[in-house]
Amino acid sequence: MAYIEPAPIKDKENPFESMMSRFQIAADHLGLEEEVYHVLKSPVKQVIVSLPVTMDRGSIQVFEGYRVIHSNILGPSKGGVRFDMDVHLDEVKALAAWMTWKCAVVDIPYGGAKGGIKCNPRKMSKGEMERLTRAYTQAMYEIIGPDRDIPAPDMGTGPREMAWMMDQYSRGHGMTVNAVVTGKPLVLGGSLGRVEATGRGVMISALAAMEKLRINPFKATCAIQGFGNVGSWAAHLLEERGAKIVAVSDLSGAYYNEEGINISDANKYRSNNEGTLEGYAGAEKIDPDELLLLDVDVLVPAAVEDVITVANADRIKAKLIVEGANGPTSAKADKILMEKDIMAVPDILANAGGVTVSYFEWVQNRLGYKWTAERVSRRSDRIMKDAFNKVYKTALKHNVSLRIAAYMVAIDKVAKTYKFRGGF
Ligand code: GLU
Repeated sequence: MAYIEPAPIKDKENPFESMMSRFQIAADHLGLEEEVYHVLKSPVKQVIVSLPVTMDRGSIQVFEGYRVIHSNILGPSKGGVRFDMDVHLDEVKALAAWMTWKCAVVDIPYGGAKGGIKCNPRKMSKGEMERLTRAYTQAMYEIIGPDRDIPAPDMGTGPREMAWMMDQYSRGHGMTVNAVVTGKPLVLGGSLGRVEATGRGVMISALAAMEKLRINPFKATCAIQGFGNVGSWAAHLLEERGAKIVAVSDLSGAYYNEEGINISDANKYRSNNEGTLEGYAGAEKIDPDELLLLDVDVLVPAAVEDVITVANADRIKAKLIVEGANGPTSAKADKILMEKDIMAVPDILANAGGVTVSYFEWVQNRLGYKWTAERVSRRSDRIMKDAFNKVYKTALKHNVSLRIAAYMVAIDKVAKTYKFRGGF
């Protein structure tokens, strides 16, 4: 009998509680009314589906799929779909809430949502992935929609899965509905600049923060955890702006070169090596846990949640952390970073470039028009810089971290909108 092994229970902070503890601090600073606090802390909808899929060997495997809509007060909900063995309801709930705050920080007219399937995409064939993606889309047919809830890529998914989702949804409608998902391949109505958008936003946030800290990008050293879409683009674009990338890592391990890793070279190696850096000779292999503790100017965690925790925060030497991943710092570690005077540009700001260009993709689909790459990057850079400045000013005004300031900016916008719209 084929079955999925249960994911090992990790000694991790619960991501939803981690999100809530920051929310609570920001709500206190804002003097948020208790009723509004209760409305915003609860997701509006949580859907769990079971997806029987025929595997290549003919057996049927049942997968569990989730979609959580945290808020749709500001507009249709928006957020990626994650394919990973660690997917569970509390994680999806936290990620959905983060999407609400993220969209509000960059001031785009969306609520927040997230989806996921507990599966291991690395062990599945293309056909199995397609059947699973289509089954998920079909099961969520009544939930998603261009004016309702708009999925996008996240960990384990990309343009290929978005194409299947768009196609499956469109079949049900008897017409092409390309605005139902973002992050599509270009020929299906994807936007120029979407693939690199999150990494580009990380680079823009990093440069804005470096300016405040008086770190010269041409003299800066960076370590980047995660060499997937976000990490590899952030590395490439930071290198292009003069920074020296001394360490990168992926699932195969961490790689260090004091002289700087040639990112184009590492990218080329990875593409020709089944998507992994395993065996990369341009750097020496180091312990992946050590990457986070390197004496660098900028640390970019761009892999998974909960990697900067009470277990290592006091040993971090970077001056600046720019969160490419969602939730890489646990709530308990925030305090330690503050005490050590390490600036952290929080996930809901630093990685918001992805959803910003997703918004542009949706706008273009609805206009039936295509923007140039130059227009996309100019507008998204502007949005990221404005958001950074607003959060920075809020942090100074209230004497709080950038993270709490970002939550304050976001919660304030959502709460004000809620008060105008009203409830029952
Ligand atoms: N999954 C990405 C994120 O966490 C993108 C979401 C989107 O574009 O809707 O921000």
